[in-house]
Amino acid sequence: AAVEGFDIEDVEGAIEAAGHGPLPVLAVVGRPNVGKSTLVNRIIGRREAVVEDKPGVTRDRVTYEAEWAGRRFKVVDTGGWEQDVLGIDASVAAQAEYAIEASDAVVFVVDAKVGVTDTDEAVVRLLRKAGKPVVLCANKVDGPSGEADATALWSLGIGEPHPVSSLHGRGTGDMLDAVLEALPEAPAQSFGTAVGGPRRIALIGRPNVGKSSLLNKVANEERVVVNELAGTTRDPVDELIELGGITWKFVDTAGIRKRVHLQQGADYYASLRTAAAVEKAEVAVILIDASESISVQDQRIVTMAVEAGRAVVLAFNKWDTLDEERRYYLEREIETELAQVAWAPRVNVSARTGRHMEKLVPAIETAIAGWETRVPTGRLNAFLGELVAAHPHPVRGGKQPRILFGTQAGTKPPRFVLFASGFIEHGYRRFVERRLREEFGFEGTPIHISVRVRE
Ligand code: GDP
Ligand code: GDP
Repeated sequence: AAVEGFDIEDVEGAIEAAGHGPLPVLAVVGRPNVGKSTLVNRIIGRREAVVEDKPGVTRDRVTYEAEWAGRRFKVVDTGGWEQDVLGIDASVAAQAEYAIEASDAVVFVVDAKVGVTDTDEAVVRLLRKAGKPVVLCANKVDGPSGEADATALWSLGIGEPHPVSSLHGRGTGDMLDAVLEALPEAPAQSFGTAVGGPRRIALIGRPNVGKSSLLNKVANEERVVVNELAGTTRDPVDELIELGGITWKFVDTAGIRKRVHLQQGADYYASLRTAAAVEKAEVAVILIDASESISVQDQRIVTMAVEAGRAVVLAFNKWDTLDEERRYYLEREIETELAQVAWAPRVNVSARTGRHMEKLVPAIETAIAGWETRVPTGRLNAFLGELVAAHPHPVRGGKQPRILFGTQAGTKPPRFVLFASGFIEHGYRRFVERRLREEFGFEGTPIHISVRVRE
């Protein structure tokens, strides 16, 4: 059977592939120089030099998509490193803790040539406490002669050491098979399972934009219902806060409050923490200091939330300090620097005075509604038919590629698959996205559009 020249099974396959839910997350942890970045590069098939990931280099990306044996997942790379900030043990602990928290399974990398160190033992204790599935990678086993070194790592007491050479690829396939066994099909925080539970908000933004002030403001003026992990020895990570008559779960608030300990040179931790919080949330409230120029760091945080496919609200804080001139320039900056999220609802707030706090909840609700929007196939195709008739794709090489039909394959965020008779150019895809937004809303949400071309 066929639709417009597409095999029906291809159509179904494309819809299923495009409609995938959130991907499970794998964290790669271990002490510095054991080969974490080298391993991550191998898993994701990245050819870039590892040197770029060296100590002190500010990295904005820590989460990558990977695929093995037909299964897709995300990898959190903790190879970026600033060991002088806290001393090695505390650094490894902090880094591993964030990554483990945000993950569904962990690859623990040990340098088999060096053998077990105290720091490795410390990480093992963290792993035990977290209770996530762990795959032990005995790295730097470049040849058969290293196998004995790998065997020695049974002493860690966390199961079978997988001998691997991340540098040359030896053993990585077997290890990844073990990873797939450890990794659930869907993340534990799968949106589907959370139906009815409180919505999860990640309050993110670069240091000093006012995250902790805002959190204190909303938590103090409203009622802090309960600390999620009260009674355990750990700091509360997620807090339930009632706002506008609704209970919300603010994720990773301990990180916001703990900030003081990680003040100097903690850019890398900041991005790791942001990535972790975003992974756990449905909606990202991105706080921006309106009194200062919008920076590259602000943009990176925005990109992180968008790439993770989260609903997004932009909150411009410190509004109490703005004069007319700054307000003028801010508007220009928003147009140029934040064009990628022109669709995000925006609130201008002051954590100090409490200005417009009441606008936060409606903005969050709008973003979540956009994120969950589903367009019926009939309406979508009526819209596509009109669009293609009124604005055909430019003719290329004597041919005119056409969008034949489409469907929404998923939500959270909305994902579309369009079926076309030929290659659809980037500019035309952008145009289609713009028109989709005009027609159906999608305020506060990224949307994904994939195009399948008839053979
Ligand atoms: P990270 O700090 O844990 O991210 O470690 P890197 O990935 O930066 O690796 C540290 C050093 O170990 C680099 O010089 C790598 O080339 C080297 N390395 C990583 N994996 C292997 C391996 O499997 N075998 C050998 N011989 N060297 C490796
Ligand atoms: P965080 O690093 O994002 O958690 O930022 P903080 O909440 O620690 O705030 C950084 C600084 O900005 C502190 O000195 C706050 O008092 C100040 N601040 C936060 N919100 C506001 C605001 O709305 N107006 C003004 N004027 N200052 C603010």
